[in-house]
Amino acid sequence: MYKVAIIGAGVSGLSMANYLEKNNIDYHIYERRTQNDLKGHGFILPKEGIEFLSSIVNIDELYKKGQFLKKYLHYHQSGEVLSEKELDDVFVVSRSALIEILAQGVPSDKISYETTVTLNGFSDGKADITINDGGPLDADIIVASDGSRSRIRRNIFEDEKMKAVLENEVVNIIENEEIAGKLESNFLKFHHEDGGLTFGVLKLSSTKVLWYCQFDITRFFINEDYTPDCIRQFIVDHFGDWNPLVTSIINDSSYENAHIWRVYELEKLNPFYHENVVFIGDAAHPLIPFTSQGVTSALKDSFVLTNLLLEGNSLTETFKTYEEVRKAEIEIHISNGRALLNQFLLPLCEQQKNTLPISYK
Ligand SMILES: Cc1cc2nc3c(=O)[nH]c(=O)nc-3n(C[C@H](O)[C@H](O)[C@H](O)COP(=O)(O)OP(=O)(O)OC[C@H]3O[C@@H](n4cnc5c(N)ncnc54)[C@H](O)[C@@H]3O)c2cc1C
Repeated sequence: MYKVAIIGAGVSGLSMANYLEKNNIDYHIYERRTQNDLKGHGFILPKEGIEFLSSIVNIDELYKKGQFLKKYLHYHQSGEVLSEKELDDVFVVSRSALIEILAQGVPSDKISYETTVTLNGFSDGKADITINDGGPLDADIIVASDGSRSRIRRNIFEDEKMKAVLENEVVNIIENEEIAGKLESNFLKFHHEDGGLTFGVLKLSSTKVLWYCQFDITRFFINEDYTPDCIRQFIVDHFGDWNPLVTSIINDSSYENAHIWRVYELEKLNPFYHENVVFIGDAAHPLIPFTSQGVTSALKDSFVLTNLLLEGNSLTETFKTYEEVRKAEIEIHISNGRALLNQFLLPLCEQQKNTLPISYK
């Protein structure tokens, strides 16, 4: 059987490790960050994502860390409800909680933190890889799960073009029991009437709230120092006169952990493999935020790839089938994401009513 090296312990790398562990395939996972650096935002997961997670993690423990959302409420910035929609098993959880739960399924001797992997080239059809700029890494298969700006991908596909998406986001998680209580289990999203500016808020637990804003980068500008003070100023300047719920949230928030997501996408997807390197998650296909499909797609990549490895065909055949299966679905999410982005940029009166911020295939 193969020896697999997984590069990156985000959701995609850790889910791959969990599937390989369950199927007794030899692997080791290498991660650049420290074990306790679990910074980050939160994820909205459609039902399918929960189904994939159920087969690899203790699902009851995951349920304790997040929240099922009952309704999507679409508001005007003033607080007037424009439409509402029931949600079918959509779950929200913080990135740190999901990463922690996924890491529990990986024995400590199979994961190395603070280990940066570099691709130096290829010889005899195999990647020449070193760790921490030192010793060689010996593996039959390299699973590159090193995120949307994957160095491994850029080394291989030197001509690729990443382009800035017209929308960026500020994401924040705050502790505030009073606000959490007001939100019940609903997903609230407020829209500026001229388009290109939204504020979304959801409850993560009885004390934690996740909020985010999406803004058109051609109309709204944030100081590029991205310090907590710069982010606070940006938010107050643009949302300070919205309805009382939004203003109370932005005024009662700490901005120490607020995160700015500068969104990029590939002009065109690359192949999902090259020689013995195969890409999963954001490294294969960065998805824009409107889809809420990044995590579910990463889980599905790992699931499909593991099952194909178990079939025991040649690596090229395995990777080719993996690409055929996954690329077709990813293209749908990319196209849905672009359509949702175009809607977002339009004035509110021209946007379609009742559109969920989730891409379904
Ligand atoms: C603000 C924000 C909000 C999001 N919201 C949602 C959402 O609501 N729903 C959803 O489904 N998705 C969402 N996404 C997308 C989602 O985060 C990703 O699609 C998903 O987590 C899969 O990520 P990944 O594991 O492929 O990559 P990453 O999470 O980027 O992980 C890559 C890992 O590789 C490591 N690494 C990189 N280079 C090296 C190297 N050379 N050597 C070793 N390690 C390396 C990095 O340290 C990192 O830990 C959001 C993303 C962001 C940024």
